[in-house]
Amino acid sequence: MWLKNFFIGLSQNQLLNSMAKKYGTKLGAQTVVAGTTIEEMIESVKELNRHGISATVDNLGEFVFEKEEALEAKDQILNVIEAIHAHEVDAHISLKPTQLGLDIDYAFCRENLEEIVAKANEFGIFINVDMEDYKHLQPSFDLIDELSQSYQNIGTVIQAYFFDSVKMIQAYKDFRLRIVKGAYKEPETVAYQDKKEINNNFLKLIEYHLLSGSFTSIATHDHHVINHVKQFVKENDIPKDKFEFQMLYGFRKDLQLTLAKEGYQFCTYVPFGKDWYGYFMRRLAERPQNMNLVVKQVFNKKTNTAIAIGAGAFLLGRLSKRKKNK
Ligand SMILES: Cc1cc2nc3c(=O)[nH]c(=O)nc-3n(C[C@H](O)[C@H](O)[C@H](O)COP(=O)(O)OP(=O)(O)OC[C@H]3O[C@@H](n4cnc5c(N)ncnc54)[C@H](O)[C@@H]3O)c2cc1C
Repeated sequence: MWLKNFFIGLSQNQLLNSMAKKYGTKLGAQTVVAGTTIEEMIESVKELNRHGISATVDNLGEFVFEKEEALEAKDQILNVIEAIHAHEVDAHISLKPTQLGLDIDYAFCRENLEEIVAKANEFGIFINVDMEDYKHLQPSFDLIDELSQSYQNIGTVIQAYFFDSVKMIQAYKDFRLRIVKGAYKEPETVAYQDKKEINNNFLKLIEYHLLSGSFTSIATHDHHVINHVKQFVKENDIPKDKFEFQMLYGFRKDLQLTLAKEGYQFCTYVPFGKDWYGYFMRRLAERPQNMNLVVKQVFNKKTNTAIAIGAGAFLLGRLSKRKKNK
């Protein structure tokens, strides 16, 4: 648990975040981040498409507290939409409301999101609004409620660790939804902490949405869950075009390919861009074994920068923890 908290702490460290932006995808991040440019990302998506796998593209970004930065993120996402359309790749968009200015001003964020949803709608491209931490949950649902009145190409994520997730899925049963366990550290007043309880709730939500007839994205690397879903859809005659499995770029690649070969719809979450640091640290928090990606990179490439950022990360993490404890 301390390791999870440690990496979550690092993911929220803004100084390290901006250092990481400067130094590019080091620390092993390039194995789970599909490059820093649109061109690199499109090549990665084409490669997935060649294997019958679609993509949901995330132009990485968080900690946006300046309007200028949010507008830049919006423009970049509009460019990604243009590129998906121009290259005719099988892909849609995942984005985070805080990247578009939710922490600055709700109306400003709504305006940015609407511009993106409208543009994507012209090309028949779906927009998934990723769910962040509890603080941003209700305003994110508000954005979806408002925009879904005018646009059909919008959906979101339900996080199984929340006590209220059953209510949430009932309220959004007509939407295309991605269902996940939940990636942020949430207090025990609002979220299950126990893995078993989260898993049970996760399966309950998946089954509920599959039976509702709406499109379900089951986003997990957990083969126990995947095997359960395979059995459940068989027993309940749920057609294969009503759901897909999703995993993150670079994780369990063999299983991704196997599921696609077995005829299941498969969609890989493809993160790219300069702002990779917070995303990468959350992946380490979820599964500290992912540290082996870091170790490999550091020793294969002898990247001094990586070592420097890593050491800095460790020291700053310790310092911020001490401050919090005070
Ligand atoms: C496509 C996608 C989108 C997501 N979007 C969001 C979002 O919008 N908001 C949010 O809060 N969270 C999101 N998440 C993260 C999610 O909430 C979980 O934190 C994350 O997926 C870890 O849980 P898990 O179900 O994959 O498996 P875990 O609970 O991490 O692992 C369960 C078991 O699966 C196996 N396993 C897991 N990973 C591996 C691996 N790499 N190699 C081998 N075995 C493995 C192991 O047996 C492990 O014990 C997303 C995840 C995915 C895949």
